[in-house]
This record gives sequence, C-alpha cells and structure tokens, in this order.
Amino acid sequence: MAAGANGIIQTKLNAFVGFSNLPNQHHRRSVKKGFHFTIMVVGESGLGKSTLINTLFNTTLYPEKKVPITTDLNKSLDIQEISAEIEESGVKLRLNVIDTPGFGDFINNEDSWKPILRSVEARYDAYLEQEQSQHRAKITDNRIHACLYFIAPTGHSLRQLDIEFMRRLAPRVNLIPVIAKSDTLTDEEVAAFKQRILDDIIFNKIEIYRPPVYEDDDEDTVAETNEITSKIPFAVVGSNKDVTTSDGRTVRGRAYPWGIIEVDNEDHNDFVKLRQMLIRTHMEELKRFTSEVLYETYRTQRLEASGRTQEAIPKEINPAASLEEQRIVHEQKLAKMENDMKLVFQQKVQEKEAKLKQSEEELYARHKEMREALEKQRAELEDKKRKLESLVHSASLMKPATPEKTRKKGIFK
Ligand code: GDP
Repeated sequence: MAAGANGIIQTKLNAFVGFSNLPNQHHRRSVKKGFHFTIMVVGESGLGKSTLINTLFNTTLYPEKKVPITTDLNKSLDIQEISAEIEESGVKLRLNVIDTPGFGDFINNEDSWKPILRSVEARYDAYLEQEQSQHRAKITDNRIHACLYFIAPTGHSLRQLDIEFMRRLAPRVNLIPVIAKSDTLTDEEVAAFKQRILDDIIFNKIEIYRPPVYEDDDEDTVAETNEITSKIPFAVVGSNKDVTTSDGRTVRGRAYPWGIIEVDNEDHNDFVKLRQMLIRTHMEELKRFTSEVLYETYRTQRLEASGRTQEAIPKEINPAASLEEQRIVHEQKLAKMENDMKLVFQQKVQEKEAKLKQSEEELYARHKEMREALEKQRAELEDKKRKLESLVHSASLMKPATPEKTRKKGIFK
C-alpha cells in the first residue's frame, strides 16, 4: 500500500470483494470513468470500525492499531477522511471512508452527534453550492452514501447515545446499524439483542435504511432483498487474518480456544449479507436514495429556510418546475443506455463468433495436418509391406521347402 502524490492510497486486494459486479448495476460509460462511494463509520473506539472496513474491501486501508487508542476525554470529536482507489477485474472504485474518532469516548457525550450531522450537511451544502454555480458540469460529489453505526455488543438494548445519534442522523443519511464484535455474544444473545434494538428503533421512529422492494422485481430479487432486511441490524465480525479450521480450510476469521469464527460464513455472522447489500447489490441504490431523497429533502428545507420558496428557486434547481424536463432527460438517458447495452451485446456476440470461427479454423487445420501425417505413415507402411512381401517371395523361390518342413510350418494340412 502506497500513498500517491495526491495522498490517495493505491492498494491491491487480497481476494475477490464484489465491486466488480458494479457494471451490472450501472451504465457502461461509468465503467470507463470508474465508480465512487463514500461511507461513514461511527461508534466508540475499539468497536472494530477500521477492521470491518478492511474486511469489507479486503484491503488494508487502515493499518492495524498496535496500541489501544487513548482518547483525551475532554477533546472534541474529530472527523477524518481516507481515500483509496481500488480495482477489481478492471473496474475502478474510488472509496472514501469517513471516520469519526472520539465519538462516544468523552465524559459528556450528549452532543456527540452534532459535529457528525454538521459534516453530513456541510457536504450537501457544498454540493448545492456547486449546483447553483456556473460550472455545473464539474460537480465534485462528497455526499455520504451510507453510515455504518456500530452498536456496542452489550446484549442489553440501545443506549441514549445510540438513540440520539440514530434519531438525529437517520433523516440525513442512509443509516445502517451493525452490532459490533458479535462473536462476543452467543446466538441466543444476538437474536434477543437484535429484537430489542429493532423495538427501540420502532419506538423512537428512527428511519434506518432498508433495501427497497420494487413492483417489477423478480421473485429471486425480492427473496434476496427480504433475506438482507431480515438480518438488520447486522451482527458482524471483522478480521482480515487467515486462520486454519479443524478440517484444514484457510478462512478469514478469529481463532478462540473453543473454535473458529469465520467472517465469511453466514452461519457464524451477518458480514456476508452486509457486504452483499453495501457492495454487490445495493451500492447504486444507496447512492440514488442519497441523491434523490435525502439530499433533495435537505435542499428543499434549506432553500425554504433561507426564505426562497419553490417558485422563487431558479428552474435549474427547482425540482417541481423541472420535473417534466427531468422526466424527458431521464427517458433519453434510458434510451441511450438501452442502445449502448445493445451495442455492447452485439459487440460481445461478434467477438465470440470471431473467436469460435478462429478456433474452428485452427481445429480444421490441425485435423488436416494429422490426416496428412497419417496418410504419409500409411503410405510408408504399405511400401514397407510391399518390400517385405517381395523379399519373402524371392526367398521362397530360392529355397524350396521340403514337404516335411512345410507340414511342420502348417502350410499344408
Ligand atoms: P476501531 O477503533 O473501532 O477502528 O476498532 P479497531 O478496528 O481498531 O479494532 C479494535 C480491536 O478490536 C482490535 O484489536 C481488533 O482486532 C478487534 N476487533 C475488531 N473487530 C472485531 C470483531 O469483530 N470481534 C472481536 N472479538 N474483536 C474485533
């Protein structure tokens, strides 16, 4: 892992992660440009935030912390950003991870959520400002697409700190609660803890992120989405270390005297489902929801608060006025996408046909070569046979066999 001139870490993956599946979620042109995703992690120090990010993207974005973090209990919360460009099967992903060291670590944590909310909204403000500026084509999007909130594995219920944070942040960001270090709880404890967390979430009317089910989703997609939703809050285990199981498999996991907890085993924890949602199936959906719902809501509220009604907002930033225009642009985009996909498909078919033709020709040439070699061998053998026969014939002419000998050889009966 090395930081480039721009401070962005260039890093290699150790194994398949899943974001190479992104082209299936997005338009082909974006593949060339690359993808980007911004994720925020919130929770007290030592809950395994950096380990989980490393585990999710199977890379070392965060070096392992050798010594426990000592937090100045009176210090204020810090917001740190780490960027990495990772690549899988030719697909590039610019990953921004926003860490919030210090959250919940102070003597008074009452307002821990405030700087985080400010950071989320400041990113919306920056986007809004760019949208309103003359150079709209070059918008830098630093909005946060998902926020992983780490709940301490107490096994009890949500603490005031958790409730306050989730309540304040949920209207602004895709909030994904996770039970940290779930290997420290038994299966029964996890199940009961999950239920209590969900009860608290409902009681406090907290709108956490739930993957949506669309009317035109096929049966498999609906089942897959429901399966993911059933795991919320995800009870996770993080580890980028390889361990050997009793049956000799090498897996990512945590070794204990009583056995091994496998990170990538769905029977052991919900890491696989969380990764599936975040990276393999819903990354684009999280981005869409951020942009079309969370940001739009914030923008409208902000503009209204600053005294500008929807009518007063210029057309290009007024969603109501430009709805029809957006629909037309959207339809054009869809048509273009479909066309591009057709072209790609045709191109792929042509490539495949050309390859098949080439291997057919190669096969034919090889077959011909072999046939000729065999023909040649046959002709040589025929020639040898002829020569042998004529030798035998001339030998028999030179030494006529006695009736006794010929009888022994069995020529005569
Ligand atoms: P952070 O401060 O929240 O970023 O926490 P770290 O990722 O640095 O992890 C703190 C410690 O917890 C390290 O010693 C990790 O090895 C350990 N840790 C991380 N994830 C897990 C987990 O899922 N289970 C257990 N038991 N320990 C973990």
